Amino acid sequence: MLDQTFQEAVHIIDKLEEHGFKAYFVGGCVRDFLLKRKISDIDIATSAPPEDVQRMFSNVIPVGLEHGTVIVRHLHKSYEVTTFRIDGNYSDNRHPDNVEFIQTIDEDLKRRDFTINALAMDNSGTIIDLFNGIKDLDQKVIRTVGKGSARFHEDPLRIIRALRFSSQLGFVINPNTLSDMQTISPEITQLAVERLRVEITKFFGGAYINNGIEYLKSTEIYKYLPVMINYPYIMYEIPIKVSPLGGFSEVVVFFHYLEPSVSIKEWFDAWKCSNQEKRDVKQLITSIDYYLEHGLNKWFVYCLSASYFDAFVRLINVLYPNHRLTKNEVISIHDSLVIHSREELQVNGHDLISLFPNKRRGPWMQEILNDIEKHVVLNHVPNKNNELKDWIKWNPPATN
Ligand code: ATP
Ligand code: MG
Repeated sequence: MLDQTFQEAVHIIDKLEEHGFKAYFVGGCVRDFLLKRKISDIDIATSAPPEDVQRMFSNVIPVGLEHGTVIVRHLHKSYEVTTFRIDGNYSDNRHPDNVEFIQTIDEDLKRRDFTINALAMDNSGTIIDLFNGIKDLDQKVIRTVGKGSARFHEDPLRIIRALRFSSQLGFVINPNTLSDMQTISPEITQLAVERLRVEITKFFGGAYINNGIEYLKSTEIYKYLPVMINYPYIMYEIPIKVSPLGGFSEVVVFFHYLEPSVSIKEWFDAWKCSNQEKRDVKQLITSIDYYLEHGLNKWFVYCLSASYFDAFVRLINVLYPNHRLTKNEVISIHDSLVIHSREELQVNGHDLISLFPNKRRGPWMQEILNDIEKHVVLNHVPNKNNELKDWIKWNPPATN
């Protein structure tokens, strides 16, 4: 009997089998199911060639046909359906140069990185475990499928993936695997930074991040990561105990406070940050700087967009654990605010013009509104039209 999580997806496997193909749940979803962890996405491996998968389902997105991957949409969810394959060389360290589609799952499982990721499950819930992945799950061990040196050389991203699983799962890394990671680690510099970022973000978001950081330090693999390659001592500024971060912007902000002499531009350039990430980093740094100088107050919470609450609280706690800041503290201040945006202010430009009919329009109007907005937020003056106008009369704009 299949677990609830797979019930909706099993339709896809059943349909592939009705057409005479083999199909299995595979990889991370089987691993996480056996670990009783939340399953992030369900991947399916099949003997059906991608063209057949496309024909068989009405709602498909051909995301990577040359690698045999098609996304099938079913009941508003996406499933990656990939044809059983053997990977060719990884000469660009990004994608295999060529892939060969095959008929059985065995060889497909063999190309996967770690034993715990090389598990497959059929539509009745039977597990295929060719490399003792279940034993490694039980013993909490990360171990390559096959010889580590060859597998890491083939795709050095697997070195970073091993670290990220140690951080997400709290597993140990098998000693041979670990020593092979170290040997091949200089090859990390050949990887596309976009691939690295995905894994490094998951690494810093892992529930067992301290386990991951210990491996990152002891193996000295950080010496081959962008930015750290130039400032390896940054790693030793990481506090002994840290908590998980929520995204790559948070990683940049975290290191910015550990080592402010490395400019955020260096982080942005070396890690190819998006414009959105750059905005987030700058906003979070402005907020943290303000908070460190003034503490939590109404004006601060008013200015901090609610979409940054979680990141802000996480960063304060990881950088300044003795502050013991909680999101509830921020939310209760937010809830107590008399206004939540400039639009709610009970005075506007028209009021200013009628109060000072002889004054020319100009920047003074914005200045007064900015000023009064802050006074209203800080409860210095009630947000009532008459009272605000009185306040402005007593605090008129400068004569020029
Ligand atoms: P997550 O829960 O983060 O999605 P995952 O194990 O599913 O973890 P993915 O990156 O989604 O990781 O990859 C899906 C599966 O594809 C893996 O479980 C593994 O079997 C295989 N895989 C992914 N990347 C590699 C790689 N670089 N080398 C070998 N196998 C890989
Ligand atoms: Mg996955």
